[in-house]
Amino acid sequence: MKHSTRSIAVVGAGQAGLQLALGLRRSGHHVTLVSNRTARQVLDGRVMSTQIMFADALETERRLGLDHWQGEAPAIEGLTFTVAPDAVKAIDFEARLAAPGQSVDQRVKIAAWLEEFTAAGGELRIAEAGVAELEELAASHDLVLVTAGKGEISRIFERDAERSPFTAPQRVAAVSYVHGLRPRDSFVACSASLMPGVGEYFIVPALTKSGPCDCLFLNGVPGGPLDAFADVRSPEEHLDVTKKLLAEFLPWEAERAADAVLTDPGGVLAGRLTPTVREPVATLPSGRKVLGVADVLVVNDPLTGQGSNSAAKCADVYLREILARGDEPFDADWMTATFERFWEYARHVTRWTNGLLPPAPAHVVDLLDAAQRQPGLASRIAEGFNNPTGLDPWWHEPEAARREILPEPAVR
Ligand SMILES: Cc1cc2nc3c(=O)[nH]c(=O)nc-3n(C[C@H](O)[C@H](O)[C@H](O)COP(=O)(O)OP(=O)(O)OC[C@H]3O[C@@H](n4cnc5c(N)ncnc54)[C@H](O)[C@@H]3O)c2cc1C
Repeated sequence: MKHSTRSIAVVGAGQAGLQLALGLRRSGHHVTLVSNRTARQVLDGRVMSTQIMFADALETERRLGLDHWQGEAPAIEGLTFTVAPDAVKAIDFEARLAAPGQSVDQRVKIAAWLEEFTAAGGELRIAEAGVAELEELAASHDLVLVTAGKGEISRIFERDAERSPFTAPQRVAAVSYVHGLRPRDSFVACSASLMPGVGEYFIVPALTKSGPCDCLFLNGVPGGPLDAFADVRSPEEHLDVTKKLLAEFLPWEAERAADAVLTDPGGVLAGRLTPTVREPVATLPSGRKVLGVADVLVVNDPLTGQGSNSAAKCADVYLREILARGDEPFDADWMTATFERFWEYARHVTRWTNGLLPPAPAHVVDLLDAAQRQPGLASRIAEGFNNPTGLDPWWHEPEAARREILPEPAVR
């Protein structure tokens, strides 16, 4: 282990915070991690995500020896895409991924990583960190990383209006973790169904506390028919509402879900968020600076399933930059440059995700339609979930999209 005298505080124990804290510990840094929940509380709490992660993000965990669930979690071999206006399949195709993805219930992963962190000699503090705690940490550490996700404390980072086109949530999310979903006939896949003007439905095969399961994720346009969970009173009612909506909008998916039961009472989640990009550095009242990480700075709507992937990749970029810094100070210029290095990647995620929130432009519909006949195009769309930089420019620009679409063979 390389030894370093530098001390680093990480506030927030999610995907990014723990990956960074464990990575820094492994390189010999003194790490103080502040979590507002114990491992037990995380495990006994509610689900937080559907957390599908693709090969490149999984590789960042693997490099640190943190991928403990490879054998147990279902290997997600590909993706399926359906466009279903008026409860009818208009477009339908599937594509295998070059390497499998996986989803490990964050309750399972975070609880395990918290214990691993203390076992590795990290200092864990259980507290809801506010500005006073940040001041104390900034005074006693060489660097403070704020990885509190959508937590209140993230608001100390100013919104970047230029990079944030939305001022209100664009979807309402409702997730149910279930056992008993009827499997697909073909390979294990994450399924995406798009209901124009209504929202999306995703199925993510996952590993939860009670073994393999499926996450059913409805993502609805606010005020629309899928925005139906605000008055739900119990987890069972949440699943019932989900099934009724599936029967109305995606009847073939309702059939698959007919016998589904919740994995546990904490296996439901409902909420909404405003996609937002923030300034990377916050100045505390003392003048000391802290650096934001992952969702604190770039939070996207979950419809492209990128947040955990980006959190892992952000942790990876920051870890390299911290190690490369040697004994130089972690000043504001370094903080900004470190974030911009991540943003060089994350801007592609944000552009792609934000572009899917309004009604799909004609060239995107044409691409999806053509993917039914062009397996190579279908694969490139699927690989975009692993690395959205590969979608540039053809996903975004009508001219470039047209060049991807092969002419249909003439009918004889
Ligand atoms: C419905 C839904 C489905 C999603 N599905 C996917 C998906 O399939 N694939 C994907 O890649 N992403 C998905 N995401 C996004 C993904 O879950 C997040 O982007 C990712 O977890 C962000 O990681 P993070 O480490 O930045 O923050 P988080 O995982 O949110 O971690 C932040 C941690 O900080 C803690 N905290 C907050 N405030 C404080 C404080 N003041 N003091 C101490 N601790 C604090 C929180 O409790 C939390 O544990 C989904 C999100 C939602 C809402």
